[in-house]
Amino acid sequence: MRTLRTALAGIGSTYAELLWPTRCIGCDLPDQLLCDECRATLPWIAQRWACPVCGAPFGWLTCTECGRSRQRDQATGAVPPQDGPRERWPMRSVVCSMSYRGTPAAIVTGLKDAHELRLAPLMAAAIATSLDEASAWDASDGLPRFDPSRTDALCFVPATAAAFARRGFDHMELVARELCGQLGLALHDALVRRQGRDQRVLGRKERARNVWGTVSVARDVSGLNLLLVDDVITTGASLGACTQALLDAGAASVTACAFARVTG
Ligand SMILES: [Zn+2]
Ligand SMILES: [Zn+2]
Repeated sequence: MRTLRTALAGIGSTYAELLWPTRCIGCDLPDQLLCDECRATLPWIAQRWACPVCGAPFGWLTCTECGRSRQRDQATGAVPPQDGPRERWPMRSVVCSMSYRGTPAAIVTGLKDAHELRLAPLMAAAIATSLDEASAWDASDGLPRFDPSRTDALCFVPATAAAFARRGFDHMELVARELCGQLGLALHDALVRRQGRDQRVLGRKERARNVWGTVSVARDVSGLNLLLVDDVITTGASLGACTQALLDAGAASVTACAFARVTG
């Protein structure tokens, strides 16, 4: 029975390949989902120089994205605690894998809107790689930006009901499940998003106002150190609102991560 099922799955994928041949998500070259050239030129964010508060590239000392400045004490060389706008960035640290342009943007669109589900493990692998890199550098609390031994479970920023209905699936649940497998963490599907106005038609400031108050926590998170994952950070509004909801519900800490980061 298993052999028959495997054979049928094989025939299915052969027909699928004939009807919709695999092409590179970045450049449309045939045969590979992400060709060697596009893979080699992905705009990775170097975690060494990234802002530990909002994950922006090159924001380690001062960050124009979250308005944080961090001057070393001239006498001792010590770095003081972060002094950025905590209310917008309540997570203890944010780790983003790539700048949101070119191939990474095509990867997110390919998963969300073209339903290329094979991109979910690819996004999760990129996030896991960046978390591993970020674990070598400290967050503003002096602890590593990511520490798997201090992480109890993984949550994801859920789709709104309208987005779920439009797409028929929650792409971030897929990425979160893959990431759980790669990091050896349990999935804690704790967040629920009620419908606000469609984020796609709003400007940056309106987005931030819109998402606040539409997030609620449906499962017990008290005392948990959570890793929260999203696809793209634009203003930080969705991640910030989800983080605040988790902290208000009693989570001990929230470390956030995302596949891509809009900058500038
Ligand atoms: Zn390519
Ligand atoms: Zn920043």
